[in-house]
Amino acid sequence: MGLENVRRVAVVGAGSMGNQIAQVAARVGGYQVKLNDINDEMVAKGLDTIRNTLQKHFVEKGKLTAEEMKAIVDRIVGTAKLEEAVKDADFVIEAAAENLAIKKDIFRRLDAFTAPHVILGTNTSGLNITDIASATKKPDKVVGMHFFNPVAVMKLVEVARGATTSQETTDMACEMCRKLGKEPIVCRDVGWGFLGNRAYGAMSDEAIQMVWERVASPMDIDRAMRLGFNLPMGPLELGDLTGRWGLRIASEEDRIREMGEARGRAHPMIRMMVRAGYPGGPGKKGIYDFWNDVLSKW
Ligand code: NAD
Repeated sequence: MGLENVRRVAVVGAGSMGNQIAQVAARVGGYQVKLNDINDEMVAKGLDTIRNTLQKHFVEKGKLTAEEMKAIVDRIVGTAKLEEAVKDADFVIEAAAENLAIKKDIFRRLDAFTAPHVILGTNTSGLNITDIASATKKPDKVVGMHFFNPVAVMKLVEVARGATTSQETTDMACEMCRKLGKEPIVCRDVGWGFLGNRAYGAMSDEAIQMVWERVASPMDIDRAMRLGFNLPMGPLELGDLTGRWGLRIASEEDRIREMGEARGRAHPMIRMMVRAGYPGGPGKKGIYDFWNDVLSKW
């Protein structure tokens, strides 16, 4: 089955990334989309976010009419039942919590509920694709599709190939990315973190270490990276925006297993921040607040 035959897309996980991917699939791809999460409340929250985002960033800015927005919203149906979400899907993208056990359980069920030809993409930031694929009986159909945040804005999708991902699946995933207005970059998944996050993570970890050593404030470190290296945002403000600190702790065990203790262990300051309630992410406090509230006075 080629991409031209794909009509229905299912997105599993209606959180920060899932609702954005669903929105782009319906708005740019024109697909019928089912959006799934663990309960009705999480599904409703995801759908609300989609409506609010479309209203604020598209209708109010004159990029969509109210009628066009309604048509997009009508194409997205939420359900808390995974089987209901994926049973007639032609393409599935999973964007649930970054936890290997949760993802493997989801993929085991996706395998049972989807037709054999259906591609199962995962938006994992770095969990091992071959490991996730091993939970299914069609590991050749499982592929990493790592969208970047905010999905509507960022062009890149890393298409991560596990040891068992077929060329056909890799090609289809790339085609789907292009259909959604993105530029896929294929990489081989050898352990943890794909491509961009490995390179960027090294810089972010060093910036965290510098805050810890009080080399400068997070704001000045970011300013230096913007002014000196022409980055649109510094690594610390980007971490605050994306919720990097919470994700770093949530993925620590997996990272240690894949990359060893030295590279996998989260920095003590990240652990401290997350414990104190500063994980970053939309509407949540991050390192800038932690500096102002705690570190600068400590
Ligand atoms: P999030 O916490 O905002 O959303 C995760 C959602 O998954 C929640 O709504 C949760 O209820 C749901 N969920 C948990 N278990 C589930 C299950 N069994 N079935 C269905 N839904 C389930 O997290 P997020 O930031 O959207 O991240 C989702 C995925 O995207 C993760 O794999 C993450 O690594 C990846 N990712 C995140 C970013 C980012 O910037 N936040 C960027 C790229 C990739």
